[in-house]
Amino acid sequence: MEKLREELLQANVGTVKENERMASHTTIKIGGPADLFVEPKNIDSLKKTMEIVRKYDVPWRAIGRGSNLLVLDEGIAGVVIKLGEGLDDLYIHDTEVTVGGGYSLIKLATVISKQGLSGLEFAGGIPGTVGGAVYMNAGAHGSDMSRIVKKAQILFEDGTIEWLTNEEMEFSYRTSVLQTKRKGICVAATLEMKKGNRDEIVAAMQKNKDYRRETQPWNYPCAGSIFRNPLPKYAGQLIERAGLKGYTIGGAKISEQHANFIVNAGGATAKDVLELIDYVKKTIYDLYGVSLQTEVEIVGRK
Ligand SMILES: Cc1cc2nc3c(=O)[nH]c(=O)nc-3n(C[C@H](O)[C@H](O)[C@H](O)COP(=O)(O)OP(=O)(O)OC[C@H]3O[C@@H](n4cnc5c(N)ncnc54)[C@H](O)[C@@H]3O)c2cc1C
Repeated sequence: MEKLREELLQANVGTVKENERMASHTTIKIGGPADLFVEPKNIDSLKKTMEIVRKYDVPWRAIGRGSNLLVLDEGIAGVVIKLGEGLDDLYIHDTEVTVGGGYSLIKLATVISKQGLSGLEFAGGIPGTVGGAVYMNAGAHGSDMSRIVKKAQILFEDGTIEWLTNEEMEFSYRTSVLQTKRKGICVAATLEMKKGNRDEIVAAMQKNKDYRRETQPWNYPCAGSIFRNPLPKYAGQLIERAGLKGYTIGGAKISEQHANFIVNAGGATAKDVLELIDYVKKTIYDLYGVSLQTEVEIVGRK
């Protein structure tokens, strides 16, 4: 790891840190150290980072805002590559928007709605990056990324960069080809928006945001929905019906506002959250015969 770190530093790829606590890079504020943590300066630095990491044959993972991650207390083996500033270019050409993978989704939704472009009203309250949203096919309020992504630019492990079409991205409920078949980093996406009335678009997005403020725990660190909805049922409804709102293990608590959110109520560890997840799964299975699957991604050394 030391040689890899030195080579990354020599290549001047951007910020390179050793044993970086992931709690500082996840919205739930939990997570042990990553062996190496890199924030590339730009696309060339990202390509260089990938080239060097590949040479050393160590595990790697791209992250955005860490808003869908539960990093275990033992941390992450290998290299974490965080996309943010430096991979956040934005080009708007008529109804076509091309945006870097590190761009904030909330910021993008705000910027383009103000331009009278419709399609991202659902995303005004989803606190991730464009890359993370493409990987997850993030969605809300009856829409998701698959409705607007025309193509996504992916950097693969072997150093090749390809634009994948919407079909090639194989989007489905909270998933994409990047989760199922082809590991790569989404460095940019082209979105196809629709022209609309600026005031109506801004108002629709604000309505969605207000609804979230009322129904979701914005005042505590969290990682969004913990479980995928076992459609046509909703995980939150099942957990609420089971009387689990407010149930607490250590510092991890089922939100009083939304039963599908686990919040870090103070000093929670990943172990607390995992135990709470297991407790909820068992309770829901025993009561309703439904096996809940996690939507939050659990990563790190076991
Ligand atoms: C309060 C709150 C509300 C939320 N509401 C919603 C919601 O309504 N709908 C919804 O869908 N989600 C919601 N989320 C979850 C989360 O915001 C989304 O899943 C988001 O898309 C994750 O983006 P990220 O950049 O934070 O990804 P991260 O959490 O950093 O990473 C998530 C996964 O994506 C991968 N990844 C990240 N960036 C890239 C990239 N550039 N290329 C390839 N892979 C990448 C990571 O390896 C990881 O596997 C919510 C979260 C919070 C905290």
